[in-house]
Amino acid sequence: MDRYDCVIVGAGPGGSTFARNSARKGLKTLLIEKESLPRNKACGGALSPAIRHLLDFDHNTMVERVVRGVTFFSRDESEDRTFYPDGMAVEMVSRKDFDNYLVRRAVDAGTILAEKTRVTSVKESKEYVTVSTDGGDRITASIVVGADGARSVVAGNTGLAKEPGGLGFEVEVYPRDRGVLDEYGDRSIFGFGFIPKGYGWIFPKKDHFSVGIGTTWNHMPGITSLYRQFTSRFSFLKEGCESDRRGWFIPYTRNSGPLNTRRILLVGDSARLTDPFSGEGIYYAVLSGTIAAQTAFDELQQHGRLSRAYTKVITRNIIKDFAYARLCSDIFYAAPSFFYRRSRVIRALTMLSNKEIRYRDILKELHKNGSSTESSGKS
Ligand SMILES: Cc1cc2nc3c(=O)[nH]c(=O)nc-3n(C[C@H](O)[C@H](O)[C@H](O)COP(=O)(O)OP(=O)(O)OC[C@H]3O[C@@H](n4cnc5c(N)ncnc54)[C@H](O)[C@@H]3O)c2cc1C
Repeated sequence: MDRYDCVIVGAGPGGSTFARNSARKGLKTLLIEKESLPRNKACGGALSPAIRHLLDFDHNTMVERVVRGVTFFSRDESEDRTFYPDGMAVEMVSRKDFDNYLVRRAVDAGTILAEKTRVTSVKESKEYVTVSTDGGDRITASIVVGADGARSVVAGNTGLAKEPGGLGFEVEVYPRDRGVLDEYGDRSIFGFGFIPKGYGWIFPKKDHFSVGIGTTWNHMPGITSLYRQFTSRFSFLKEGCESDRRGWFIPYTRNSGPLNTRRILLVGDSARLTDPFSGEGIYYAVLSGTIAAQTAFDELQQHGRLSRAYTKVITRNIIKDFAYARLCSDIFYAAPSFFYRRSRVIRALTMLSNKEIRYRDILKELHKNGSSTESSGKS
């Protein structure tokens, strides 16, 4: 039976971040991924620029576009609103390339990668964790990180982070006329009123658009027809060439139950750390992978096992603010166009996306009276 210091299940952004940190510490690290890499993932691929503060390497070559504008529209209104707020710089990546890039950085640091290997169970004992794979291997490790996404086997086996979440699906649309990428390539487009408690998006990439729709509801019959209604305003989408539709879960958390045991930690989607207002999850996967690494190694060295420190830090730094995010979401989705017309709200949303402020601050903004209504008015 192979023995490792750390085994990480899942090579998304959360798993790769932890693996790189672990290998850099000199720990014997194994990263297990069920797919063959590079693999795709249902995702808009919109990154907060603040992710730069978490990564200890440059990811510029992975950024296909930096988007400095945003257009909002509603199903029941003919006018849309476009803004180019100071400081907006959303980075658009292809998940296939970006995730693979992070895996390579983990491997560069000394991580051993096992792809096309599905973890079927994890079992914790006092001294170690046993990880079983679909190939019949049994591997032991001092700690195991569940970074295996929204349907996490690790979370399921340990009884942690079990709440339901939302869902969404995404399509890549390659426009027939490449000129539309010049016309629409400088902004994200968001449409409201097509799906309850959610939105449709159009994000420009190097040679295509990521187009999708998502909701915090965990069940959405007729989502395909809602998607069609959302895209019907844009003729270039109807004429474009579509990839396969990719649907997946967007896991949210409501409570702050434990996210680790003595030898197992959950990061990213397996810990249900997706923003309940925006659905953003890549940043939080990398943030939780970083925090997990910061807390776990010292504890292992000092005590030979984990305390509740990781759960406490994640609750304080992420989950508490997600409670405010849910409140913002309740207020915003009651009348999206009332809010997105206000330049003060747009400024606050930009700062929020840059992680310069938190949801508790944006709530204060929303409650301020007399918001100004000026905008560039481009439609
Ligand atoms: C439609 C949609 C659009 C989204 N758009 C955005 C967006 O624009 N921006 C944003 O920030 N977030 C977005 N998200 C959320 C984002 O995709 C996730 O939050 C993010 O991928 C979480 O990263 P992760 O590392 O935790 O997990 P994942 O990226 O899901 O990676 C988990 C990995 O584990 C592997 N795995 C799973 N089970 C096993 C197993 N048993 N054994 C071995 N390996 C396994 C999987 O193959 C996968 O590679 C979107 C989500 C959806 C569904």
